Amino acid sequence: MSNSVVTYSPAYTLVPTYECFNRCSYCNFRVDPGQDQWLTLKSARQKLTQLQNSGVIEILILSGEVHPHSSRRQVWFEHIYALCELALSMGFLPHTNAGPLSFDEMARLRQVNVSMGLMVEQTTPQLLETVHRHAPSKLPGLRLEQLDWAGQLRIPFTTGLLLGLGEIEDDWVEALGAIARLHARYGHIQEVILQPHSPGQRQAETGASFSPDQLIQAIHLARAHLPSDVTIQIPPNLVNAEQLRACLTAGARDLGGIGPMDEVNPDYPHPTAADLAIAIGSKWTLQPRLPVYPHHENWLGGQVRSRVAHWRQQLPVPSPII
Ligand code: SF4
Repeated sequence: MSNSVVTYSPAYTLVPTYECFNRCSYCNFRVDPGQDQWLTLKSARQKLTQLQNSGVIEILILSGEVHPHSSRRQVWFEHIYALCELALSMGFLPHTNAGPLSFDEMARLRQVNVSMGLMVEQTTPQLLETVHRHAPSKLPGLRLEQLDWAGQLRIPFTTGLLLGLGEIEDDWVEALGAIARLHARYGHIQEVILQPHSPGQRQAETGASFSPDQLIQAIHLARAHLPSDVTIQIPPNLVNAEQLRACLTAGARDLGGIGPMDEVNPDYPHPTAADLAIAIGSKWTLQPRLPVYPHHENWLGGQVRSRVAHWRQQLPVPSPII
């Protein structure tokens, strides 16, 4: 593939529930447990029916977390599984990001997902005393273990760093190094997202916006510390057009799932693919991609793999790398 190609995934996000037992101080997503009506299968089916033949390929299942020891955990998990099954049965390609999972949960979701994701965010334990002091799921070791398990299970995986939480540049290098070591062992990391903290209206503690200059520096560092077959992704709704082009020049090559709404940063709507094609300028070519890269397709089983083959035929998309 030409080095001037920039990819994105035509996507729609389904949120099984916004409830989350963690309380990250910068979160603009969560509600307290019990304060949310979970997405029903009926509503999900209605939405997915509207999306058929709309160009959407990926269904991102993005969920708040029910505590692993809660009596509601099993119901929550089965609901996520059922949503993935539904999306798959209607022709879409599911990608789940539902926080840390047990090994068995991850193995089951593998059967109905083409790829999965979990942000490492940062590996420095210092954040457990600040923004993550009420977020047991943000233990760095727990999150790296998830990447390890995904590798063992041969799950194509997306991870990333959340930047601007109070960490220093050395912390980025440490987190990138940890991701690179796991990828060297398993070869399963498709993309590393570099997500600048962008304050929203709902977060408990307002922090400063992460500066675009620092984001460029983070991309340079990521490109230097990650293997060349790991794509660097940035969220295009959190930068302006000039900054976006600077990010591409620094080494970013993917813009992630593009849909009508960014559920994680609801104050920053996604541009359309047409807007993005203009914003990146004539030096770059925007191309849609599937949520699984071609070199990982033979990891997938049965029904999932045949769905991917169907899309690959309809939309021949080369691997967005290097
Ligand atoms: S950032 Fe994620 S883990 Fe933290 S409170 Fe929000 S939804 Fe929960």
